[in-house]
Amino acid sequence: MIAQQIKTAIRDIPDFPKPGIIFKDITPILKDPALCDGILDAFIAQLGDTKVDVVAGVESRGFLFGLSLAQRLGVPFVPVRKAGKLPYERKKKVYELEYGTATIEMHTDAFEPGQHVLIHDDLLATGGTVTAASELIQEMGGVVAGFSFVVALGFLNGRQKIAPISDKIWVLAD
Ligand code: 5GP
Repeated sequence: MIAQQIKTAIRDIPDFPKPGIIFKDITPILKDPALCDGILDAFIAQLGDTKVDVVAGVESRGFLFGLSLAQRLGVPFVPVRKAGKLPYERKKKVYELEYGTATIEMHTDAFEPGQHVLIHDDLLATGGTVTAASELIQEMGGVVAGFSFVVALGFLNGRQKIAPISDKIWVLAD
């Protein structure tokens, strides 16, 4: 089972990046090519015949499987980045964090209006980042095709946060 393989590979790092946080380190997954292939196979199976024109990967770990997934689907990959990283014309979205705000950006030519954009990240925590990404994509005229994650931290209720935006939420390991 892919879910169990993912859970076994991920390691918990206590007190990273701050005291009290247990960080889910996904890097051991990346050292296992067969598991990486299995993850992509599982995403493709879950997506079924979902219309996806573009995959948008969220900085930075969303780039890891995001590009490979786009390659498998035969569609473009575009990055969603933190403020100040993208070189071309950008559109930004400011969103609330527990303390303060954060900003994400996309290139204005990332996709065409009306295209179906799959939002991908490694891990779903509170859902704040991908919700902001979905708002940005909609403001740019895109249609959110759904959300895909390798793993979700269920206790942070990210699914509930994104449920009003889309019922297409794919998580390989909960
Ligand atoms: P959210 O916006 O859902 O609260 O946070 C999700 C974002 O934070 C994702 O981009 C994800 O990469 C990162 N993140 C938060 N906690 C963890 C963690 O424990 N492990 C990993 N790999 N990423 C995390």
